[in-house]
Amino acid sequence: MLVDTFRVDSPFVTYTEETIESKYEYKTTDMVHEVTKEGKYEWIARPKSVTYQFSTNRALPKLGVMLVGWGGNNGSTLTAGIIANREGISWVTKDGVQHANYFGSLTQASTCRIGSFSGEEIYVPFKSLLPMVDPNDIVIGGWDISDMNLADAMERARVLDIDLQKQLRPLMQDMVPLPGIFDPDFIAANQGSRANNIIKGSKKEQMEKVIQDIRTFKAETKVDKVVVLWTANTERYSDVITGLNDTKENLFDSLENGEPEISPSTLFALACIHEGVPFINGSPQNTFVPGVIEYAIEKNCLIGGDDFKSGQTKMKSVLVDFLVGAGIKPTSIVSYNHLGNNDGMNLSAPQTFRSKEISKSNVVDDMVSSNSILYSPGEHPDHVIVIKYVPYVGDSKRAMDEYTSEIFMGGRNTISMHNTCEDSLLAAPLILDLVLLAELCTRIQFKADGEEKFHSFHPVAALLSYLTKAPLVPPGTPVVNALAKQRSMLENVMRACIGLAPENNMMLEYK
Ligand code: NAD
Repeated sequence: MLVDTFRVDSPFVTYTEETIESKYEYKTTDMVHEVTKEGKYEWIARPKSVTYQFSTNRALPKLGVMLVGWGGNNGSTLTAGIIANREGISWVTKDGVQHANYFGSLTQASTCRIGSFSGEEIYVPFKSLLPMVDPNDIVIGGWDISDMNLADAMERARVLDIDLQKQLRPLMQDMVPLPGIFDPDFIAANQGSRANNIIKGSKKEQMEKVIQDIRTFKAETKVDKVVVLWTANTERYSDVITGLNDTKENLFDSLENGEPEISPSTLFALACIHEGVPFINGSPQNTFVPGVIEYAIEKNCLIGGDDFKSGQTKMKSVLVDFLVGAGIKPTSIVSYNHLGNNDGMNLSAPQTFRSKEISKSNVVDDMVSSNSILYSPGEHPDHVIVIKYVPYVGDSKRAMDEYTSEIFMGGRNTISMHNTCEDSLLAAPLILDLVLLAELCTRIQFKADGEEKFHSFHPVAALLSYLTKAPLVPPGTPVVNALAKQRSMLENVMRACIGLAPENNMMLEYK
Protein backbone atom coordinates (compact mmCIF):
# COMPACT_ATOMS: atom_id res chain seq x y z
CA MET A 1 0.00 0.00 0.00
CA LEU A 2 1.22 3.51 -0.85
CA VAL A 3 0.76 6.38 1.59
CA ASP A 4 1.64 9.89 0.43
CA THR A 5 3.17 11.32 3.58
CA PHE A 6 4.05 10.27 7.10
CA ARG A 7 5.64 11.57 10.29
CA VAL A 8 8.17 9.76 12.46
CA ASP A 9 7.30 9.31 16.11
CA SER A 10 10.53 8.59 17.99
CA PRO A 11 12.46 9.95 20.97
CA PHE A 12 15.35 10.45 18.53
CA VAL A 13 13.48 12.65 16.07
CA THR A 14 12.21 16.20 16.53
CA TYR A 15 10.24 18.25 14.06
CA THR A 16 10.51 22.01 14.57
CA GLU A 17 9.01 24.71 12.34
CA GLU A 18 12.32 25.07 10.54
CA THR A 19 14.03 21.68 10.75
CA ILE A 20 13.83 17.93 11.21
CA GLU A 21 16.41 16.85 13.80
CA SER A 22 17.44 13.23 14.14
CA LYS A 23 19.84 11.26 16.24
CA TYR A 24 21.07 8.18 14.46
CA GLU A 25 23.16 5.18 15.45
CA TYR A 26 25.41 4.33 12.52
CA LYS A 27 26.48 0.73 12.87
CA THR A 28 29.56 -0.24 10.95
CA THR A 29 32.54 -2.57 11.24
CA ASP A 30 36.25 -1.93 11.65
CA MET A 31 38.60 -4.59 10.34
CA VAL A 32 41.88 -5.20 12.12
CA HIS A 33 44.45 -7.95 11.86
CA GLU A 34 46.38 -9.42 14.73
CA VAL A 35 49.28 -11.82 14.83
CA THR A 36 48.44 -15.17 16.47
CA LYS A 37 50.74 -17.20 18.73
CA GLU A 38 51.66 -19.26 15.66
CA GLY A 39 52.81 -16.05 13.94
CA LYS A 40 49.89 -16.00 11.49
CA TYR A 41 47.68 -13.04 10.57
CA GLU A 42 44.14 -13.26 11.88
CA TRP A 43 41.51 -10.84 10.63
CA ILE A 44 39.11 -9.54 13.24
CA ALA A 45 35.81 -7.78 12.58
CA ARG A 46 34.93 -5.25 15.26
CA PRO A 47 31.39 -3.91 15.01
CA LYS A 48 31.12 -0.33 16.17
CA SER A 49 28.45 2.25 16.54
CA VAL A 50 28.78 5.99 15.97
CA THR A 51 26.06 8.47 16.87
CA TYR A 52 25.27 11.03 14.22
CA GLN A 53 22.96 14.01 14.42
CA PHE A 54 21.22 15.25 11.30
CA SER A 55 19.41 18.52 10.83
CA THR A 56 17.36 19.07 7.68
CA ASN A 57 16.03 22.49 6.83
CA ARG A 58 12.33 22.10 5.98
CA ALA A 59 11.92 25.43 4.18
CA LEU A 60 11.62 24.75 0.46
CA PRO A 61 13.19 27.42 -1.71
CA LYS A 62 11.77 28.72 -4.94
CA LEU A 63 14.22 26.87 -7.17
CA GLY A 64 15.73 28.05 -10.43
CA VAL A 65 17.45 25.55 -12.70
CA MET A 66 19.80 26.78 -15.40
CA LEU A 67 20.81 24.26 -18.04
CA VAL A 68 23.93 24.62 -20.12
CA GLY A 69 22.77 23.27 -23.49
CA TRP A 70 19.17 24.24 -22.76
CA GLY A 71 18.13 24.01 -26.41
CA GLY A 72 19.48 20.49 -26.87
CA ASN A 73 17.42 17.31 -26.89
CA ASN A 74 17.66 16.81 -23.13
CA GLY A 75 17.13 20.46 -22.29
CA SER A 76 14.08 20.90 -24.50
CA THR A 77 12.59 17.55 -23.45
CA LEU A 78 12.97 18.31 -19.76
CA THR A 79 11.49 21.78 -20.18
CA ALA A 80 8.55 20.35 -22.14
CA GLY A 81 8.05 17.64 -19.53
CA ILE A 82 7.98 20.04 -16.61
CA ILE A 83 5.53 22.37 -18.35
CA ALA A 84 3.31 19.48 -19.44
CA ASN A 85 3.18 18.18 -15.86
CA ARG A 86 2.63 21.61 -14.38
CA GLU A 87 -0.20 22.37 -16.82
CA GLY A 88 -1.69 18.86 -16.53
CA ILE A 89 -1.49 18.37 -20.29
CA SER A 90 -2.85 15.25 -22.00
CA TRP A 91 -2.35 14.42 -25.66
CA VAL A 92 -3.58 11.95 -28.21
CA THR A 93 -1.25 9.27 -29.56
CA LYS A 94 -2.00 6.36 -31.87
CA ASP A 95 -2.37 4.23 -28.72
CA GLY A 96 -4.85 6.54 -26.99
CA VAL A 97 -4.73 9.49 -24.61
CA GLN A 98 -1.47 9.99 -22.72
CA HIS A 99 -1.14 12.10 -19.58
CA ALA A 100 2.01 13.92 -18.48
CA ASN A 101 3.99 12.05 -15.83
CA TYR A 102 7.41 11.84 -14.24
CA PHE A 103 8.11 8.17 -14.95
CA GLY A 104 11.83 7.42 -14.84
CA SER A 105 12.45 9.85 -12.01
CA LEU A 106 13.73 8.20 -8.84
CA THR A 107 12.40 10.97 -6.64
CA GLN A 108 9.02 11.42 -8.35
CA ALA A 109 8.06 7.94 -9.50
CA SER A 110 9.73 5.42 -7.21
CA THR A 111 8.80 4.33 -3.71
CA CYS A 112 10.47 3.18 -0.49
CA ARG A 113 9.22 0.68 2.06
CA ILE A 114 8.78 2.29 5.47
CA GLY A 115 7.19 -0.42 7.59
CA SER A 116 4.21 -2.70 7.87
CA PHE A 117 0.61 -2.21 8.98
CA SER A 118 -1.57 -5.24 9.78
CA GLY A 119 0.76 -7.47 7.84
CA GLU A 120 0.81 -5.20 4.79
CA GLU A 121 3.92 -3.45 3.54
CA ILE A 122 3.61 0.35 3.53
CA TYR A 123 5.46 2.30 0.86
CA VAL A 124 5.89 6.03 0.42
CA PRO A 125 7.01 8.02 -2.62
CA PHE A 126 10.79 8.50 -2.52
CA LYS A 127 10.20 12.26 -2.60
CA SER A 128 8.31 12.18 0.68
CA LEU A 129 11.24 10.83 2.72
CA LEU A 130 12.43 14.41 3.17
CA PRO A 131 10.96 17.77 2.14
CA MET A 132 11.84 18.24 -1.53
CA VAL A 133 11.09 20.89 -4.11
CA ASP A 134 8.14 20.04 -6.36
CA PRO A 135 9.46 19.85 -9.95
CA ASN A 136 6.35 21.66 -11.19
CA ASP A 137 7.52 24.71 -9.22
CA ILE A 138 10.96 24.89 -10.87
CA VAL A 139 11.78 28.00 -12.88
CA ILE A 140 13.88 26.91 -15.81
CA GLY A 141 16.38 28.81 -17.94
CA GLY A 142 19.87 28.47 -19.34
CA TRP A 143 22.39 28.88 -22.11
CA ASP A 144 22.93 27.45 -25.57
CA ILE A 145 25.32 28.20 -28.40
CA SER A 146 22.27 27.93 -30.68
CA ASP A 147 19.75 30.75 -30.36
CA MET A 148 16.77 28.58 -31.29
CA ASN A 149 13.77 29.08 -29.01
CA LEU A 150 12.67 26.13 -26.93
CA ALA A 151 9.57 25.37 -29.01
CA ASP A 152 11.64 25.05 -32.18
CA ALA A 153 14.31 23.16 -30.25
CA MET A 154 11.66 20.66 -29.11
CA GLU A 155 10.61 20.20 -32.74
CA ARG A 156 14.25 19.82 -33.85
CA ALA A 157 14.75 17.13 -31.19
CA ARG A 158 12.00 14.88 -32.67
CA VAL A 159 11.38 13.29 -29.27
CA LEU A 160 7.84 14.16 -28.19
CA ASP A 161 4.52 13.33 -29.85
CA ILE A 162 3.28 15.97 -32.26
CA ASP A 163 -0.03 16.60 -30.45
CA LEU A 164 1.91 17.33 -27.28
CA GLN A 165 4.32 19.60 -29.17
CA LYS A 166 1.39 21.58 -30.58
CA GLN A 167 0.00 22.20 -27.10
CA LEU A 168 3.39 23.14 -25.68
CA ARG A 169 4.53 25.42 -28.49
CA PRO A 170 2.82 28.60 -27.20
CA LEU A 171 4.25 27.96 -23.74
CA MET A 172 7.81 27.48 -25.00
CA GLN A 173 8.26 29.75 -27.99
CA ASP A 174 9.31 32.75 -25.92
CA MET A 175 11.96 30.82 -24.07
CA VAL A 176 15.27 31.69 -25.68
CA PRO A 177 18.64 30.50 -24.35
CA LEU A 178 21.31 32.94 -23.26
CA PRO A 179 24.47 32.87 -25.38
CA GLY A 180 26.84 29.97 -24.51
CA ILE A 181 30.59 29.58 -24.56
CA PHE A 182 31.65 28.07 -27.88
CA ASP A 183 35.14 26.67 -28.22
CA PRO A 184 35.53 24.56 -31.37
CA ASP A 185 38.66 23.00 -29.89
CA PHE A 186 36.53 21.16 -27.30
CA ILE A 187 33.52 19.85 -29.22
CA ALA A 188 33.26 18.21 -32.63
CA ALA A 189 33.78 20.38 -35.72
CA ASN A 190 30.32 19.31 -36.92
CA GLN A 191 28.73 21.49 -34.18
CA GLY A 192 30.02 24.73 -35.73
CA SER A 193 26.95 25.24 -37.89
CA ARG A 194 24.57 25.64 -34.93
CA ALA A 195 26.83 28.01 -32.99
CA ASN A 196 25.15 31.39 -33.57
CA ASN A 197 24.66 32.48 -29.95
CA ILE A 198 28.05 32.96 -28.42
CA ILE A 199 29.58 34.83 -25.49
CA LYS A 200 32.46 36.88 -26.84
CA GLY A 201 35.67 37.88 -25.07
CA SER A 202 38.53 36.26 -23.22
CA LYS A 203 38.12 33.14 -21.09
CA LYS A 204 37.94 35.30 -18.00
CA GLU A 205 35.35 37.60 -19.55
CA GLN A 206 33.30 34.58 -20.61
CA MET A 207 33.32 33.27 -17.06
CA GLU A 208 32.35 36.68 -15.72
CA LYS A 209 29.47 36.86 -18.17
CA VAL A 210 28.16 33.53 -16.82
CA ILE A 211 28.39 34.90 -13.28
CA GLN A 212 26.38 37.91 -14.40
CA ASP A 213 23.84 35.67 -16.15
CA ILE A 214 23.24 33.70 -12.96
CA ARG A 215 22.76 36.89 -10.96
CA THR A 216 20.38 38.38 -13.52
CA PHE A 217 18.36 35.15 -13.73
CA LYS A 218 18.07 35.09 -9.95
CA ALA A 219 16.97 38.70 -9.79
CA GLU A 220 14.50 38.50 -12.68
CA THR A 221 12.83 35.25 -11.63
CA LYS A 222 13.04 36.00 -7.90
CA VAL A 223 14.18 32.45 -7.16
CA ASP A 224 15.83 31.77 -3.79
CA LYS A 225 18.34 29.26 -5.09
CA VAL A 226 19.81 28.22 -8.42
CA VAL A 227 21.26 24.89 -9.54
CA VAL A 228 23.21 24.74 -12.81
CA LEU A 229 23.56 21.54 -14.81
CA TRP A 230 25.69 20.87 -17.91
CA THR A 231 23.70 19.01 -20.53
CA ALA A 232 25.58 20.58 -23.41
CA ASN A 233 27.67 18.66 -25.89
CA THR A 234 30.30 16.26 -24.69
CA GLU A 235 33.68 17.94 -24.78
CA ARG A 236 37.04 16.33 -25.30
CA TYR A 237 39.09 15.77 -22.14
CA SER A 238 41.19 18.71 -20.96
CA ASP A 239 44.85 17.90 -20.44
CA VAL A 240 45.60 17.99 -16.75
CA ILE A 241 48.94 19.73 -16.60
CA THR A 242 51.08 20.68 -13.63
CA GLY A 243 51.14 24.45 -13.36
CA LEU A 244 48.04 24.86 -15.55
CA ASN A 245 44.95 23.42 -13.89
CA ASP A 246 46.32 21.12 -11.18
CA THR A 247 45.60 23.56 -8.35
CA LYS A 248 43.09 26.32 -7.81
CA GLU A 249 45.83 28.92 -7.86
CA ASN A 250 47.32 27.65 -11.12
CA LEU A 251 43.88 27.45 -12.69
CA PHE A 252 43.11 31.04 -11.81
CA ASP A 253 46.51 32.14 -13.15
CA SER A 254 45.73 30.25 -16.36
CA LEU A 255 42.38 32.02 -16.53
CA GLU A 256 44.13 35.39 -16.28
CA ASN A 257 46.46 34.32 -19.09
CA GLY A 258 43.61 33.09 -21.32
CA GLU A 259 45.09 29.59 -21.40
CA PRO A 260 43.37 27.72 -24.27
CA GLU A 261 43.25 24.40 -22.37
CA ILE A 262 40.47 25.69 -20.05
CA SER A 263 37.25 24.18 -21.41
CA PRO A 264 33.87 25.93 -21.61
CA SER A 265 32.43 23.50 -19.05
CA THR A 266 35.24 24.33 -16.62
CA LEU A 267 34.45 28.03 -17.07
CA PHE A 268 30.80 27.35 -16.20
CA ALA A 269 31.86 25.33 -13.15
CA LEU A 270 34.15 28.12 -11.95
CA ALA A 271 31.39 30.70 -12.37
CA CYS A 272 28.96 28.57 -10.35
CA ILE A 273 31.42 27.87 -7.56
CA HIS A 274 32.17 31.58 -7.41
CA GLU A 275 28.46 32.19 -6.87
CA GLY A 276 28.01 29.27 -4.43
CA VAL A 277 25.64 27.68 -6.95
CA PRO A 278 25.66 23.86 -7.17
CA PHE A 279 27.01 22.68 -10.53
CA ILE A 280 26.37 19.22 -11.98
CA ASN A 281 28.08 17.80 -15.04
CA GLY A 282 25.83 15.49 -17.08
CA SER A 283 28.44 14.80 -19.74
CA PRO A 284 31.53 12.62 -19.55
CA GLN A 285 34.38 15.13 -19.94
CA ASN A 286 36.71 16.03 -17.07
CA THR A 287 35.20 19.44 -16.33
CA PHE A 288 36.29 18.94 -12.74
CA VAL A 289 40.04 19.23 -13.19
CA PRO A 290 41.90 19.22 -9.85
CA GLY A 291 41.92 23.04 -9.63
CA VAL A 292 38.12 23.11 -9.87
CA ILE A 293 37.71 20.48 -7.18
CA GLU A 294 40.05 22.39 -4.88
CA TYR A 295 38.04 25.58 -5.47
CA ALA A 296 34.72 23.80 -4.79
CA ILE A 297 36.06 22.33 -1.56
CA GLU A 298 37.42 25.70 -0.45
CA LYS A 299 34.08 27.40 -1.14
CA ASN A 300 32.10 24.40 0.12
CA CYS A 301 30.05 24.54 -3.07
CA LEU A 302 28.34 21.36 -4.23
CA ILE A 303 29.65 19.81 -7.45
CA GLY A 304 28.43 16.53 -8.91
CA GLY A 305 28.85 14.34 -11.97
CA ASP A 306 29.89 12.93 -14.33
CA ASP A 307 27.70 11.79 -17.24
CA PHE A 308 24.06 10.76 -16.78
CA LYS A 309 23.64 7.02 -16.18
CA SER A 310 20.56 6.56 -18.31
CA GLY A 311 20.50 3.42 -20.45
CA GLN A 312 23.20 0.96 -21.36
CA THR A 313 25.43 1.78 -18.40
CA LYS A 314 22.51 1.57 -15.99
CA MET A 315 21.81 -1.96 -17.26
CA LYS A 316 25.50 -2.79 -17.00
CA SER A 317 25.72 -1.62 -13.41
CA VAL A 318 22.80 -3.92 -12.61
CA LEU A 319 23.76 -6.93 -14.70
CA VAL A 320 27.43 -7.14 -13.77
CA ASP A 321 26.53 -6.63 -10.11
CA PHE A 322 24.06 -9.52 -10.41
CA LEU A 323 26.56 -11.78 -12.20
CA VAL A 324 29.53 -11.12 -9.92
CA GLY A 325 27.23 -11.23 -6.89
CA ALA A 326 25.97 -14.63 -8.02
CA GLY A 327 29.52 -15.98 -8.26
CA ILE A 328 29.49 -15.88 -12.07
CA LYS A 329 32.54 -14.45 -13.83
CA PRO A 330 31.93 -11.99 -16.67
CA THR A 331 34.95 -12.26 -18.97
CA SER A 332 33.86 -10.21 -21.98
CA ILE A 333 31.51 -7.24 -22.13
CA VAL A 334 30.96 -5.71 -25.55
CA SER A 335 28.65 -2.73 -25.95
CA TYR A 336 27.54 -1.29 -29.26
CA ASN A 337 25.44 1.86 -29.58
CA HIS A 338 24.02 3.67 -32.51
CA LEU A 339 22.10 6.89 -32.32
CA GLY A 340 21.11 9.65 -34.70
CA ASN A 341 20.66 12.75 -32.59
CA ASN A 342 23.00 15.71 -32.26
CA ASP A 343 24.75 14.01 -29.33
CA GLY A 344 25.53 11.08 -31.67
CA MET A 345 26.83 13.45 -34.32
CA ASN A 346 29.08 15.18 -31.78
CA LEU A 347 30.34 11.81 -30.49
CA SER A 348 31.34 10.76 -34.01
CA ALA A 349 34.55 12.79 -33.59
CA PRO A 350 37.38 10.73 -32.02
CA GLN A 351 38.19 13.17 -29.18
CA THR A 352 34.61 13.47 -27.88
CA PHE A 353 34.03 9.73 -28.37
CA ARG A 354 37.09 9.13 -26.21
CA SER A 355 35.49 11.06 -23.31
CA LYS A 356 32.41 8.82 -23.56
CA GLU A 357 34.53 5.70 -23.87
CA ILE A 358 36.41 6.52 -20.67
CA SER A 359 33.22 7.28 -18.78
CA LYS A 360 31.58 4.04 -19.90
CA SER A 361 34.65 1.90 -19.27
CA ASN A 362 35.22 2.08 -15.52
CA VAL A 363 31.69 1.16 -14.57
CA VAL A 364 32.38 -2.47 -13.65
CA ASP A 365 35.59 -1.84 -11.69
CA ASP A 366 34.11 -1.88 -8.19
CA MET A 367 32.16 -5.08 -8.88
CA VAL A 368 35.20 -6.87 -10.33
CA SER A 369 37.43 -5.83 -7.45
CA SER A 370 34.81 -6.96 -4.92
CA ASN A 371 35.32 -10.62 -5.82
CA SER A 372 38.82 -11.99 -5.92
CA ILE A 373 37.46 -15.54 -5.84
CA LEU A 374 36.57 -14.91 -9.48
CA TYR A 375 39.28 -12.46 -10.53
CA SER A 376 42.96 -12.66 -9.66
CA PRO A 377 44.77 -9.39 -8.87
CA GLY A 378 44.89 -7.12 -11.91
CA GLU A 379 42.52 -9.35 -13.90
CA HIS A 380 39.64 -7.62 -15.64
CA PRO A 381 37.01 -8.64 -18.18
CA ASP A 382 37.56 -7.54 -21.78
CA HIS A 383 35.38 -4.46 -22.05
CA VAL A 384 34.82 -2.76 -25.42
CA ILE A 385 32.57 0.16 -26.30
CA VAL A 386 31.51 1.15 -29.82
CA ILE A 387 29.35 4.19 -30.70
CA LYS A 388 28.17 4.93 -34.24
CA TYR A 389 26.19 7.85 -35.62
CA VAL A 390 23.16 6.73 -37.66
CA PRO A 391 21.03 9.81 -38.41
CA TYR A 392 17.85 7.89 -39.33
CA VAL A 393 17.22 6.56 -35.80
CA GLY A 394 17.26 10.10 -34.36
CA ASP A 395 17.00 10.22 -30.58
CA SER A 396 15.88 6.59 -30.46
CA LYS A 397 19.16 5.10 -29.38
CA ARG A 398 19.97 1.44 -29.88
CA ALA A 399 22.23 -0.23 -27.36
CA MET A 400 23.35 -3.81 -27.95
CA ASP A 401 25.37 -5.61 -25.34
CA GLU A 402 26.91 -9.02 -25.15
CA TYR A 403 28.02 -10.38 -21.78
CA THR A 404 30.03 -13.58 -21.81
CA SER A 405 30.72 -15.22 -18.48
CA GLU A 406 32.44 -18.29 -17.12
CA ILE A 407 30.09 -20.48 -15.12
CA PHE A 408 30.23 -23.80 -13.25
CA MET A 409 32.90 -26.26 -14.34
CA GLY A 410 34.28 -24.30 -17.24
CA GLY A 411 30.90 -23.61 -18.86
CA ARG A 412 30.24 -20.42 -20.81
CA ASN A 413 27.14 -18.26 -20.63
CA THR A 414 26.35 -15.49 -23.09
CA ILE A 415 23.64 -12.92 -22.50
CA SER A 416 22.72 -10.55 -25.33
CA MET A 417 20.60 -7.48 -24.84
CA HIS A 418 18.98 -5.08 -27.27
CA ASN A 419 17.71 -1.83 -25.82
CA THR A 420 15.79 0.75 -27.86
CA CYS A 421 14.64 4.01 -26.36
CA GLU A 422 14.47 7.75 -26.87
CA ASP A 423 17.64 8.82 -25.12
CA SER A 424 16.26 12.13 -23.93
CA LEU A 425 13.22 10.53 -22.32
CA LEU A 426 15.65 8.56 -20.17
CA ALA A 427 17.93 11.50 -19.40
CA ALA A 428 15.34 14.20 -18.63
CA PRO A 429 14.01 12.60 -15.40
CA LEU A 430 17.60 12.03 -14.28
CA ILE A 431 18.33 15.73 -14.71
CA LEU A 432 15.34 16.44 -12.54
CA ASP A 433 16.53 14.05 -9.83
CA LEU A 434 20.03 15.49 -9.94
CA VAL A 435 18.89 19.06 -9.40
CA LEU A 436 16.28 18.17 -6.76
CA LEU A 437 18.70 16.01 -4.80
CA ALA A 438 21.51 18.53 -5.12
CA GLU A 439 19.20 21.18 -3.73
CA LEU A 440 18.15 18.87 -0.90
CA CYS A 441 21.79 18.12 -0.04
CA THR A 442 22.38 21.83 0.54
CA ARG A 443 19.69 21.79 3.27
CA ILE A 444 21.16 18.93 5.31
CA GLN A 445 23.71 19.42 8.09
CA PHE A 446 25.15 16.71 10.26
CA LYS A 447 27.83 15.85 12.77
CA ALA A 448 29.29 12.69 14.25
CA ASP A 449 30.06 11.89 17.90
CA GLY A 450 32.89 14.12 19.02
CA GLU A 451 32.48 16.71 16.28
CA GLU A 452 31.81 20.15 17.65
CA LYS A 453 29.88 21.73 14.83
CA PHE A 454 27.29 20.69 12.29
CA HIS A 455 28.56 20.72 8.70
CA SER A 456 27.27 19.93 5.25
CA PHE A 457 28.06 16.82 3.23
CA HIS A 458 31.38 16.95 1.42
CA PRO A 459 30.91 19.36 -1.51
CA VAL A 460 31.83 16.63 -3.97
CA ALA A 461 28.39 15.04 -3.94
CA ALA A 462 28.90 11.28 -3.95
CA LEU A 463 25.24 10.92 -2.94
CA LEU A 464 24.29 11.64 -6.56
CA SER A 465 26.19 8.54 -7.76
CA TYR A 466 23.00 6.63 -8.63
CA LEU A 467 22.40 9.06 -11.46
CA THR A 468 25.86 9.20 -12.99
CA LYS A 469 28.01 6.87 -15.08
CA ALA A 470 31.35 7.93 -13.62
CA PRO A 471 30.51 9.15 -10.10
CA LEU A 472 32.63 12.01 -8.88
CA VAL A 473 33.60 11.32 -5.27
CA PRO A 474 35.74 13.16 -2.74
CA PRO A 475 39.47 12.40 -3.01
CA GLY A 476 40.24 9.08 -1.32
CA THR A 477 36.63 7.84 -1.31
CA PRO A 478 35.72 4.49 -2.93
CA VAL A 479 33.66 4.81 -6.12
CA VAL A 480 30.49 2.72 -6.10
CA ASN A 481 28.98 1.88 -9.49
CA ALA A 482 26.62 -0.98 -8.59
CA LEU A 483 23.16 0.52 -9.04
CA ALA A 484 21.43 -1.16 -6.09
CA LYS A 485 24.19 -0.05 -3.71
CA GLN A 486 24.00 3.50 -5.04
CA ARG A 487 20.25 3.59 -4.53
CA SER A 488 20.41 2.21 -1.02
CA MET A 489 23.17 4.66 -0.08
CA LEU A 490 20.91 7.53 -1.03
CA GLU A 491 17.76 6.06 0.48
CA ASN A 492 19.46 5.07 3.73
CA VAL A 493 21.11 8.46 4.22
CA MET A 494 17.71 10.08 3.71
CA ARG A 495 16.17 7.62 6.18
CA ALA A 496 18.89 8.50 8.71
CA CYS A 497 17.83 12.13 8.44
CA ILE A 498 14.42 11.12 9.79
CA GLY A 499 15.79 8.62 12.28
CA LEU A 500 14.71 5.48 10.41
CA ALA A 501 16.89 2.37 10.31
CA PRO A 502 18.49 1.51 6.96
CA GLU A 503 16.42 -0.79 4.78
CA ASN A 504 18.06 -4.13 5.53
CA ASN A 505 15.46 -6.43 3.91
CA MET A 506 15.76 -8.90 6.83
CA MET A 507 12.00 -8.96 7.47
CA LEU A 508 12.60 -10.82 10.72
CA GLU A 509 9.04 -10.10 11.83
CA TYR A 510 7.89 -12.62 9.22
CA LYS A 511 10.47 -15.33 9.93
P1 NAD B 1 22.25 17.80 -27.79
O1 NAD B 1 23.40 17.86 -28.72
O2 NAD B 1 20.89 17.65 -28.32
O3 NAD B 1 22.25 19.07 -26.84
C1 NAD B 1 23.39 19.74 -26.45
C2 NAD B 1 23.15 21.24 -26.60
O4 NAD B 1 24.27 21.91 -26.06
C3 NAD B 1 23.01 21.69 -28.03
O5 NAD B 1 21.80 22.41 -28.18
C4 NAD B 1 24.22 22.59 -28.26
O6 NAD B 1 23.93 23.66 -29.12
C5 NAD B 1 24.53 23.04 -26.85
N1 NAD B 1 25.92 23.43 -26.55
C6 NAD B 1 27.06 22.85 -26.94
N2 NAD B 1 28.12 23.45 -26.36
C7 NAD B 1 27.63 24.41 -25.57
C8 NAD B 1 28.23 25.35 -24.70
N3 NAD B 1 29.54 25.38 -24.53
N4 NAD B 1 27.43 26.21 -24.02
C9 NAD B 1 26.09 26.15 -24.16
N5 NAD B 1 25.46 25.27 -24.98
C10 NAD B 1 26.23 24.41 -25.68
O7 NAD B 1 22.62 16.60 -26.80
P2 NAD B 1 21.67 15.85 -25.75
O8 NAD B 1 21.15 14.61 -26.38
O9 NAD B 1 20.74 16.80 -25.13
O10 NAD B 1 22.76 15.39 -24.68
C11 NAD B 1 23.42 16.37 -23.91
C12 NAD B 1 24.63 15.80 -23.20
O11 NAD B 1 24.20 14.82 -22.29
C13 NAD B 1 25.64 15.13 -24.14
O12 NAD B 1 26.95 15.46 -23.74
C14 NAD B 1 25.41 13.68 -23.88
O13 NAD B 1 26.55 12.88 -24.11
C15 NAD B 1 25.04 13.71 -22.41
N6 NAD B 1 24.35 12.50 -22.02
C16 NAD B 1 23.11 12.19 -22.53
C17 NAD B 1 22.48 11.03 -22.15
C18 NAD B 1 21.11 10.66 -22.65
O14 NAD B 1 20.59 9.64 -22.35
N7 NAD B 1 20.46 11.51 -23.40
C19 NAD B 1 23.11 10.15 -21.27
C20 NAD B 1 24.36 10.48 -20.76
C21 NAD B 1 24.95 11.67 -21.13
